[in-house]
Amino acid sequence: MPLNIRTGDILELKKQHPCGGKEFEVMRAGMDFRVKCLTCGAQLRLSRPKLEKRVRKIKTGES
Ligand SMILES: [Zn+2]
Repeated sequence: MPLNIRTGDILELKKQHPCGGKEFEVMRAGMDFRVKCLTCGAQLRLSRPKLEKRVRKIKTGES
């Protein structure tokens, strides 16, 4: 079942960024996702299946 990931959500990923951060903000949602590391500010582009596999938790800002 696909996860409901939306722009603005904060994601906690299983695999941390090389900078040590685990929390990422969703900048763009769609076929591909763009997420920003909240620790160092780097942006990554991930396909949906790849991102869904890495998500540990969705910390939604708004409901
Ligand atoms: Zn980072």
